[in-house]
Amino acid sequence: MPGRARGVGRRRLGSRELVPASVGIAAASYWAFMSPYSQLLGPFPYRFATTERVVALTFDDGPNEPYTSQIADALDASGARATFFAVGACVERHPDTARRLASDGHVLGSHGYSHRLDRCVGREVLRDEVRRAEAAFSRHLGLRPVLFRPPWLLRTPGLFGVAREQSLQLVSGEFAHVLEVLQPSPERIARRAVAKARPGSVLIFHDGIEAKGGDRSATVAAVELVVADLSARGFGFTTVDQLLGVNPYR
Ligand SMILES: [Zn+2]
Repeated sequence: MPGRARGVGRRRLGSRELVPASVGIAAASYWAFMSPYSQLLGPFPYRFATTERVVALTFDDGPNEPYTSQIADALDASGARATFFAVGACVERHPDTARRLASDGHVLGSHGYSHRLDRCVGREVLRDEVRRAEAAFSRHLGLRPVLFRPPWLLRTPGLFGVAREQSLQLVSGEFAHVLEVLQPSPERIARRAVAKARPGSVLIFHDGIEAKGGDRSATVAAVELVVADLSARGFGFTTVDQLLGVNPYR
């Protein structure tokens, strides 16, 4: 069911006059350019208004083995479907895993080609990242994803321009646990993720780290806990394209 994207004003900067100006500027810059919630530069949906008790689990920075397959096994066991924002270079590294995700009914979105921070700024560079990622998806999966989550969630005016020009739908989300990348215990990740879940939530997990692989076993175990707990609370699992009401591929 198409939903209305939640927008401005989720959180406000709490700067005070005693805070040094540089800290205030850094906080404001983070808020504008990298916060999952800021809509300052353009629409960047992180949650959708819906009456259905559904959440979208999303996974960034993969495929990364064996963890991506373990997450797919866990989702499969419960019939849950998720959205994977895959990195083009990782799709090239693990094309069979990416194909399995698609054939299992998960949705693949693009998370750029290299995940390098220095490749996130500048219209020409961004366009090149988007196109190289699309070439990897197209070559290995025969798919051209519409959903795009920028690496580091970094937005610039140039990104919105490239998204319009390439007909991409930008997608944010809420971090399942703000430290999930660093792998605290599965129970801690799951507890926070479940507490954040609302109808229409888009929760962000990581099945890789940037384009570098890395141990994601705490995330794998957390996903099993989250799926079991949310299912017991009557939640179903949907994909981001469903929440947006768009076709996930061109
Ligand atoms: Zn990422």
